[in-house]
Amino acid sequence: MAGEPQADCLFCKIVAGSVPATVVRETETTVAFRDINPQAPTHVLVIPKAHYPDAASLAAQAPQLAADVLREAGEVAAEDKVVGTGYRVVFNTGAGAGQTVFHAHAHVLGGRGLEWPPG
Ligand code: AMP
Ligand code: ZN
Repeated sequence: MAGEPQADCLFCKIVAGSVPATVVRETETTVAFRDINPQAPTHVLVIPKAHYPDAASLAAQAPQLAADVLREAGEVAAEDKVVGTGYRVVFNTGAGAGQTVFHAHAHVLGGRGLEWPPG
């Protein structure tokens, strides 16, 4: 069923606490934790606690939860003090775009100059 935990999903395991993570924020519906392989001084992943494979399915099936993730991305940026210098929120979608974990997640990147277009 949509949103149910998946036994083989790394981020569901982080939600459950069976895989450790450096959690920076948690709400009733979301968790934010530092990326294990940071690409910028601020590199935090914001995930819904419920499992959806990507941002599009999250937005289609649980729009309020998608809004929770976006709001938390902003809160993370504020807490890491990167709002003034600018930050980027990225949802890689599909293997061809670099998605490696198929549990929806927003990357919050900031603390350095960010080029456009991204690679
Ligand atoms: P993506 O490639 O967009 O699917 O993003 C997955 C992200 O998860 C990558 O940036 C990884 O560095 C990150 N990642 C993988 N395993 C962990 C982990 N155990 N804790 C924190 N971040 C992780
Ligand atoms: Zn999952």
